Amino acid sequence: MWGKKDVFFGFFTNTFNICSSQSYIKMSLLVVGSVAFDAIETPFGKTDKIVGGAATYISLSASYFNPKINLVAVVGGDFPSSAITTMKEHGIDTTGLQIKQDEKTFFWSGKYHNDMNTRDTLVTELNVLGTFDPIIPEEYQSCDYLMLGNLAPSVQSTVIQRLKHRPKLIVMDTMNFWMEIAMDDLRKTLSMVDVLSINDEEARQLSGEYALIKAARKIMEMGPKVIIIKKGEHGALLFNKDQVFFAPALPLEEVFDPTGAGDTFAGGFIGYLASTNDITFANMKRAIIYGSAMASFCVEKFGTERLEKLTDHEVELRLKEFVDLVQFEMTLPK
Ligand code: AMP
Repeated sequence: MWGKKDVFFGFFTNTFNICSSQSYIKMSLLVVGSVAFDAIETPFGKTDKIVGGAATYISLSASYFNPKINLVAVVGGDFPSSAITTMKEHGIDTTGLQIKQDEKTFFWSGKYHNDMNTRDTLVTELNVLGTFDPIIPEEYQSCDYLMLGNLAPSVQSTVIQRLKHRPKLIVMDTMNFWMEIAMDDLRKTLSMVDVLSINDEEARQLSGEYALIKAARKIMEMGPKVIIIKKGEHGALLFNKDQVFFAPALPLEEVFDPTGAGDTFAGGFIGYLASTNDITFANMKRAIIYGSAMASFCVEKFGTERLEKLTDHEVELRLKEFVDLVQFEMTLPK
């Protein structure tokens, strides 16, 4: 992992050149979200219940940038201890993972359409998530960075209220499910965060605007100063009040399973920001590239499989592929 070397391999300038390495800083990152069982069907195959969940993908992805990751989530007695061991092996502190022995883990099932960019949710069984009370261990309460993965918005706002200090940056994710059943709570939570990361369909639903620029502007009025709109294989857009940045997704030969790509993207984004401890818009542009690189791994295998065993070298090569993909020289006419 990056932290073992105590320096980053390479940073991008705004024009995607690799420039000098930067000292590594260990900031704390609190990740809250679902830890789940998923059953996934894509045109390439089908899985039985496998380990998934927003917080699982976020934490694994962020772990490659090695901030101090603390996890707050809940599972049932049916959740495999081997999956918790995998998280620990990635340096993720699981003290805040509640295990409700007599209950069942959250279960989600989805089926992808042939284009792999759209999916239908077949089943959402909240189980332990239905009564989730996010208890934040004392040692997590002064976190520097907070990533609120997809969860009931009332739980997300409770987490913010239970912290000792406001973190330097709060990023949240959400989905249409919560817009349909908990819009008032969602509005409240949105008013408390800095960055919202959602996909294009969700941005349209939340704002009532089709054009994404207008959608981003409307969502900013709800609270977040920065909006990330993910467009699946068509990349991601980053907006603040005055600027827009676009990052492509890496064209891949095979996309096996997009589940968790959005969370993996968010994990790479905040993991990189936390590791550099720089929340300027210029650094967020780089973070978008890191998030996109991590998401490109996620889709190559079912579930978390690919994310569990990456090497630093693979991550470095993938980042370089991004540089090569978008770098060009051009002289503008006078
Ligand atoms: P993504 O593909 O990035 O949108 O995230 C997929 C993950 O989100 C899956 O692993 C699911 O377990 C999780 N998920 C799906 N629906 C919900 C929900 N309503 N609340 C929390 N997590 C969810």
